[in-house]
Amino acid sequence: AAGREGYIRRTKTVCTYCGVGCAFEVWTKDRHILKIEPTHGPANGVSTCIKGKFAWDHVGSPQRLTRPLIRENGAFREADWDEALALIARRLGALRTEHGPDALAFITSSKCTNEESFLMQKLARSVIGTNNVDNCSRYCQSPATMGLWRTVGYGGDSGSITDLERAGLVIGIGTNTAESHPVLATRVKRAQKLRGQKLIVADLREHEMARRADLFLRPNPGSDFVWLNAVSRYLLDQGLENRAFLDRWVSGLDAFRASLDAYTLEYAEAVTGLSGETLRQVAHEIAQADGVCIMWAMGVTQQMSGSETSTAISNLLLLTGNYMRPGAGSYPLRGHNNVQGASDMGSMPGHVTGYQRVDDPAVRAAYAAEWGTELPTTAGLDNHQMIHAIHAGTLRGLYLKGEDISLVDANANYVDAALEKLDFLVVQEMFFSHTASFADVVLPASPSLEKDGTFTNTERRIQRLNQALPPLGDSRPDWQIIQGVANALGAGWSYAHPVEVMDEIARLTPLYAGVTYERLAGFASLQWPVQPDGTDTPLLFTDGFPFPDGRARLYPAEFIPRTEPPDAQYDLHLNNGRMLEHFHEGNMTFRTAGITAQVPGAFVEVSPDLACERGLTDGTLVRLVSRHGAVKLPALVTARVQGQQLYVPMNSPDAAQAVNRLTGSHTDPSTHTPAYKDTAVRLEVIGGT
Ligand code: SF4
Repeated sequence: AAGREGYIRRTKTVCTYCGVGCAFEVWTKDRHILKIEPTHGPANGVSTCIKGKFAWDHVGSPQRLTRPLIRENGAFREADWDEALALIARRLGALRTEHGPDALAFITSSKCTNEESFLMQKLARSVIGTNNVDNCSRYCQSPATMGLWRTVGYGGDSGSITDLERAGLVIGIGTNTAESHPVLATRVKRAQKLRGQKLIVADLREHEMARRADLFLRPNPGSDFVWLNAVSRYLLDQGLENRAFLDRWVSGLDAFRASLDAYTLEYAEAVTGLSGETLRQVAHEIAQADGVCIMWAMGVTQQMSGSETSTAISNLLLLTGNYMRPGAGSYPLRGHNNVQGASDMGSMPGHVTGYQRVDDPAVRAAYAAEWGTELPTTAGLDNHQMIHAIHAGTLRGLYLKGEDISLVDANANYVDAALEKLDFLVVQEMFFSHTASFADVVLPASPSLEKDGTFTNTERRIQRLNQALPPLGDSRPDWQIIQGVANALGAGWSYAHPVEVMDEIARLTPLYAGVTYERLAGFASLQWPVQPDGTDTPLLFTDGFPFPDGRARLYPAEFIPRTEPPDAQYDLHLNNGRMLEHFHEGNMTFRTAGITAQVPGAFVEVSPDLACERGLTDGTLVRLVSRHGAVKLPALVTARVQGQQLYVPMNSPDAAQAVNRLTGSHTDPSTHTPAYKDTAVRLEVIGGT
């Protein structure tokens, strides 16, 4: 037995998929992954979902990139690292000299570690001299963060995942929690079963959580803002607000009340399709509950009014006193394993680490002292603005890691056309992604199991992942690659290990001030803000809110209607999102044979009514056509969707079938998050299967 133990390594790591942040040990022998064993995960206990348990074939996939690739005469050839890094430095340097630093942009990945996202923005700001840096929270969670900044000051879950079980009432809005955040959903399912916790779900689709709900609301697409405000107004009209909490902790009640004038139950009925009686019931459930947690995700944020609806959610929680205690509060459910961390690390144009403004003189002074270079002064571009700037000819070079932007950004055909126009594109990836096909240089990166570093999950929990396997072939962890690029540009960085990066993050970032690798040993974790002495914050807002007067702010928000309501030419509403088995564009999960055997590709869900009207059965091939593109998909007839609404999962192994061939470039104006859920299409029957 002792001999066998000697061959087998057990390494604690953190799941590379969703924002729940399940921690577990991975058992390996040589390069073989023997099993995933959850034992002490602070977010997950002994649970994982199908992805965390089984979706690891990507790590040893023969399709992994193992050497840098350079485009030459229209084809790619293998190169060594020295040649690839020298070429990148030469081309980026030339573009900077010729067009200025703001002709270059950088996109980090929410699958990468905190340390790697930190280094990406350091490369952009300190080596190149531009604030043009962003991450994929622009595609998903930025509106939730905006809503929380406006109202309570911190853009994160207000409590812990385990606290959800203590709520009297959980409300899920635009979140398919059982498939998108499966282990978190089990907390709610268990509390409902064992404690009689109430569950209200508002969504277009009747997914598992909707079927489990005590009350299932099916509002018209894009109308959540209206019913939320109508509930807030009804509560005020009935005197059901939490007056003691408002008096002590909240400002702005009069202006907020005035902003609700139009939101009568009658108006809400007309806009949302929900009955006044249903909304009265929701209001009374909230008023009576011993603690309300509201979870929300892309069904809310990927709308024209994503920031406004997120604000309305937080307003409702403030109005009813549902902050400042476990079992109450806001739970924006972060999608990627490290989407929270990528934003925490300052991979955003307007902010450096810990949401410190890049134009704050004190912050600029601290960074100048640490880095020896001034932060750039020009306002940076976000992901969405970068694509427009490429089309306009002002952005000439792009360096992105771990983002298959030509599949996951909205209006994929427009994005592809932009990538074709670039003077120079560097893609850092595990696989030859669709985006890589546009690159000038492709750099082979490592998956999570081949890395040291930290991830920060949806509940602000910072956890260590430890390297379980050596990098495959000549691939490298992203932090080493970024350091290589920086040094080829003359930066002179000398990080020997990610721990040195985290020490620098802690020096520069009050939210991470007390984070050390010693305090994250084993299954230990810290939830930010972390004080210098290591005291962390499982529950935000225990003694007020992070505004000068310590009071939260009711924020009058404004409804922004849909841009693409169905019309005569495009008569169907298209919704999109995740499925349990696959993750995002599918670059990792479609490389796991067992998962792909279960769900081999994308499809379009069609309601029984629409199927009957158009003569569709399961497998009938249809063409969906929007104002922005077209895809061919097999139909799946299901009562999960209703009437003239369709649903296509965002995961597809075929770039031509990607749902973002259909979505448009219209965005939430406050954050530029694309309104992915606001798409009108027509359906043409091709036939056959
Ligand atoms: Fe946990 Fe999410 Fe990973 Fe599933 S995908 S194991 S729920 S972190």
